[in-house]
Amino acid sequence: MNVATKILLVVLDGAADRPTVNRKTPLMAANLPFFDQLAREGIVGIMDVIAPGTPPGSDTAHLSLLGYSPKKVYTGRGPFEAAGVGIDVKPGDIAFRGNFATVKDGTVIDRRAGRINDTHRLAEAIREQVHLDCEFIFKESAGHRAALVLRGENLSPSITPTDPHHIGALLPSQPTTTGPSPQKTAKLVNDFTRQVRAILSDHPVNKKRSEAGELPANAILLRGAGVVPHLIPFEERTGLNAAVIAATALVIGIGKLTGMEYVPTTGATGHIDSNIDAKVKNVNRALKTHAFVLLNIKGADEAGHDGDFNTKAQFLTRVDAAMSELAIDESTLVVITADHTTPVSLREHSGDPVPFLIHGKGVRTDEINVFDEFFAALGGMNRIRGVDLVPVLTDLLGKGQKFGA
Ligand code: ZN
Ligand code: ZN
Repeated sequence: MNVATKILLVVLDGAADRPTVNRKTPLMAANLPFFDQLAREGIVGIMDVIAPGTPPGSDTAHLSLLGYSPKKVYTGRGPFEAAGVGIDVKPGDIAFRGNFATVKDGTVIDRRAGRINDTHRLAEAIREQVHLDCEFIFKESAGHRAALVLRGENLSPSITPTDPHHIGALLPSQPTTTGPSPQKTAKLVNDFTRQVRAILSDHPVNKKRSEAGELPANAILLRGAGVVPHLIPFEERTGLNAAVIAATALVIGIGKLTGMEYVPTTGATGHIDSNIDAKVKNVNRALKTHAFVLLNIKGADEAGHDGDFNTKAQFLTRVDAAMSELAIDESTLVVITADHTTPVSLREHSGDPVPFLIHGKGVRTDEINVFDEFFAALGGMNRIRGVDLVPVLTDLLGKGQKFGA
């Protein structure tokens, strides 16, 4: 074959940054011999994952990087979280992200219920005792997290969250547009909230927590309402059977909703302490049976949100070392990029473009020998949009969609 046959897309979540310490970014300060080698042998560029000046969320960014226009398919993060925690969501479902929280006299005093880590029995009580005028699925996930799905006719994601996002009143959900569907959905959410409050307040688990001086998990805060979109499976669009390797529910959910096989990794935490070696081993395995593998590594984003330059740079150094164990040859196109910029100076996502590199058979090279934000801007790929990445890659596999005669 004269072209590559497989693709490995590595998303270093939030790895891109702005010049900070000594006018360097964490990518510049990190020691990245492997990525630099890929950049030297391959081609680099910068990418507006959504659009110039638009700070992407991880969800919309990953959709875009997989070739789905987020403007067309995205209404909220709930559907991806719900799919990611293992709920079998269906197009048309309304899904929410949820938190177990502590409410006192109508005020949310802790959005994470004292960082509770086992909510199984509380979730079971919710599943058994809540009754709504529609079908619902509630599932707990790691720590204080949970997801809720409402299923039925005439439901809408156009409602406000019950989560105040900080210490404050537990909010009633309200429709944000006119019409019967948003009104009905807001009422269902408020019914759910009210019943959950009653069930959890009297629950033995919470009585025990209170007695032990711990905060009771006596409410569920809902946010991120979205309608589960109809996504054409990735394999149908590209001809590539795909796998996703990630630790965060959001990215796992995007993989599942686009028809990818989720390959779990023991020790992958989604944090700085994540077992990256285990993930790399999983990638090596997955590439034997899949033509496309999406690997998300979350830690750098976390360090960005913490405003911790050194931790971010050190984490990237560790990722580079782990990735050098990739068992790949020229027949696998490797892409290294980020889903967005998370500057340590902002502790939030920004709209700066991200660097990317492509390495593998058939790739034109350029004169850049280093992987970072500044050299990427001088590279042969120039500046592209996120949704154009997959077409660029499939064309390199000889699967480009010809336009014209
Ligand atoms: Zn992200
Ligand atoms: Zn982030």
